[in-house]
Amino acid sequence: MAQDWGKRTKLVHQGARRSQYGEVAEAIYLTQGFVYPSAEAAEARFLEAGADEFIYARYGNPTVAIFEERIAALEGTEDAFATASGMAAVAGALSAMLRAGDHVVSSRALFGSCLYILEEVLTRYGVEVTFVDGTDLDQWQAALRPDTKAVFLESISNPTLEVIDLEAVARRAHDVGALVVVDNVFATPVFSRAVDLGADVIIYSATKHIDGQGRALGGVICGTREFIRKTVEPYMKHTGGALSPFNAWVMLNGLTTLDLRVRAQAASAQAIAEALEGDARLARVLYPGLASHKQHAIAKAQMGGFGTVLALDLKGGKEAAFRFLNALQVAVISNNLGDARTIATHPATTTHQRLPDDQKIALGITPGLIRLSVGLEDTADLITDLRRGLDMI
Ligand SMILES: *Cc1c(COP(=O)(O)O)cnc(C)c1O
Repeated sequence: MAQDWGKRTKLVHQGARRSQYGEVAEAIYLTQGFVYPSAEAAEARFLEAGADEFIYARYGNPTVAIFEERIAALEGTEDAFATASGMAAVAGALSAMLRAGDHVVSSRALFGSCLYILEEVLTRYGVEVTFVDGTDLDQWQAALRPDTKAVFLESISNPTLEVIDLEAVARRAHDVGALVVVDNVFATPVFSRAVDLGADVIIYSATKHIDGQGRALGGVICGTREFIRKTVEPYMKHTGGALSPFNAWVMLNGLTTLDLRVRAQAASAQAIAEALEGDARLARVLYPGLASHKQHAIAKAQMGGFGTVLALDLKGGKEAAFRFLNALQVAVISNNLGDARTIATHPATTTHQRLPDDQKIALGITPGLIRLSVGLEDTADLITDLRRGLDMI
């Protein structure tokens, strides 16, 4: 039975739907619509579509359905809804569940676009949002109210890699009846134990580790069948953030190797963090797998691993950071993460450029901070490359 399978077996086989041709690889059903055998059948399907009955690709599609079923099984949720991007998943999940007058508590350390949704978009429609330091349980406790409908957090924050005590936050949120919505990109589905820790809704940008090769945009919302089909699906199918069948197929191919890639990349990230920690040119090396990381114990207790991203804080500020980046020969300068290629990012001038300086400082986004998404290259080559960068500052 599928539910007894381990993660790696699910990643390869879960949800497979074969046509009458018995194809081995998943088929790409590149069709917007579906032909009904009769007018009566069309009427019946619009009234209530059965399992594996499709109406229009904005509502669902067989290739997309395989991806949804595979991700839900992997994450351990009853169901999942695939979206056009990670941001379509974040915006869709929150917009679908919230209405004017609702209150949300959110961690402040968020990916720039997530912050925009919470700070600018939801508030425009009358949702009240209180931001807290996600690592401070007292702040969560103080911000939660009887009318709090949801809490939102990134389990490992971007780009400073703070780890939130998900279990403790979930307990407090559930005490007031709030749903726990987790952007789990940095934890990855491989290391996630979010369901066990109390998360109600788990969101991934599939663009990152799930594709893992920097090709396509995608996202997914995981949750109970009731939440996905009664709350998320009606909102998503009418607002248009559907995942394309072709991108679902790209993601399915990514999933087959997800476990192997993420474990190899995380092992490499750990080795790099250990090799560089203590280098005199670095003010900080941030990686949850280092004993020196502030939430190392929480990360160890709550996740199956420490992720594929680390951050280096160079002592010489922006000038040193740019010299470092420009000297790299293996790692590329870009802003994706979870890719097979190692990617170096300067958050202060790119992904988080929009933030005012005082907020950057409050979030630890210093002028010397480099975010490094570790890829699949030889670890020794990466360490040589990073040392070459440090020598140039
Ligand atoms: C990249 C990212 C997103 C957005 O995903 P897209 O697929 O680019 O829309 C959301 N949250 C986090 C933490 C991310 O890293």
